[in-house]
Amino acid sequence: MGLSKTDPQVYKLIKEEEKRQREVLEMIPSENYASHAVMEALGTVLTNKYSEGYPKKRYYQGNRVIDEIEQLAIDRAKKLFGVPYVNVQALSGSPANTAVYFALLTPLKDKIMGLSMASGGHLTHGLALNISGRFYKSSLYELGKDGQLDYAAIEKQAVREKPKIIICGYTAFPRIIDFKKFGQIADKVGAFLMADISHITGLVVAGAHPSPVPYAHIITTTTHKTLRGPRGALIMVTEKGFKKDPDLGRKIDSAIIPGLQGGPHDNQTAAIAVALKEASAPAFKKYGHQIVKNSKALAKALIKYGFDLLSGGSDNHLILIDLQNKKANGAVAAFALEVANIVVNKNLVLNDPMPSFYPSGIRLGTPAITTRGMKEKEMTKIAGWYSQVIDKVKNEQLPQEKEARVEFMKSFRQKAAKNKKLLQIAHEVKALTQKFPV
Ligand SMILES: *Cc1c(COP(=O)(O)O)cnc(C)c1O
Repeated sequence: MGLSKTDPQVYKLIKEEEKRQREVLEMIPSENYASHAVMEALGTVLTNKYSEGYPKKRYYQGNRVIDEIEQLAIDRAKKLFGVPYVNVQALSGSPANTAVYFALLTPLKDKIMGLSMASGGHLTHGLALNISGRFYKSSLYELGKDGQLDYAAIEKQAVREKPKIIICGYTAFPRIIDFKKFGQIADKVGAFLMADISHITGLVVAGAHPSPVPYAHIITTTTHKTLRGPRGALIMVTEKGFKKDPDLGRKIDSAIIPGLQGGPHDNQTAAIAVALKEASAPAFKKYGHQIVKNSKALAKALIKYGFDLLSGGSDNHLILIDLQNKKANGAVAAFALEVANIVVNKNLVLNDPMPSFYPSGIRLGTPAITTRGMKEKEMTKIAGWYSQVIDKVKNEQLPQEKEARVEFMKSFRQKAAKNKKLLQIAHEVKALTQKFPV
């Protein structure tokens, strides 16, 4: 029986979410619209199977078909990225990174070195509250004052701290990463270089961002951001990685199972295989390059409206706006934008004087709206809406005390939800999204 009959409550909620995704400008840079084919693979009988182990080496019977599916995903990923080893079983990006640490590091002894979250790194890159910062020693590096990577400072820190793994690849960084430089730094101190390209994988396979393959030992990535697949992750080892440690693949396999996980999600593996096929088609190259063109066009237009962008612009898929010069707060702005049907996330800015729940900035990106077919012309229009919305909420000063802030946000939300100007923009946004069906 269909979902609408078995569970009308869940069915209705899914339909509501579908409508929301259709009617808004989805501009959270880690989100995208997976294809119908990817979603079709997810909703299949593959979800019924247990297949602990790896192709041809399973602990359960009945895995002939699953073996073929997993091998197909592995082979497609190897070919697309040009690497000799891939593990497709990590359930998402965070477990993938955790598995790499588990494979290579001795807890409480070995050190990792990643970018701090305040500078745009990920939780799993050594944050004290994350397993990566609690089980392992962690030395975090920061961006330079100009919002760029300071390679000389990173090298100095690596020489001093002697990390076993250096991590590059970020969550909120709008510029090109010089993987070659990172490779040299890692080699100099004898560290593994792990490139976590979760955010930029789609750009890397499209040739719109340089690839880390020649320089990194290990590459991890989610499959659901710019790659446009299902939620999931890939862990890859490069030729360079095998030269440093011929046993690296086996160590990672065994860190995933029995180290960290049980059975893989086979429906997810199949959907990853589908996404990898889509990403190897010529149309995907065009898509990747258009993401960057759109991001650059949007950045340029935002600057014209007086917005202050981290590092002064963007050359990937993502933009960070520091709203301090506009006298606006990130949490307030993100809510007002949502009323206007534009969905972004609030984000810390460099040396943010505010706490992470009420940060001074917002983070936005072009992957999802580019999937809908929007181009530079639409970006100019969108920048205008940002300007109008932020104009509406500037001088909405957050109180200093915590409790007062909660009250303030509550009454602000009620007020903003009825604001005529914001609702007018919401209407215009909806009209635009109708021209670019999902
Ligand atoms: C999104 C992201 C991850 C992890 O993703 P989840 O799938 O949410 O666990 C890891 N690293 C980076 C750099 C990311 O941006």
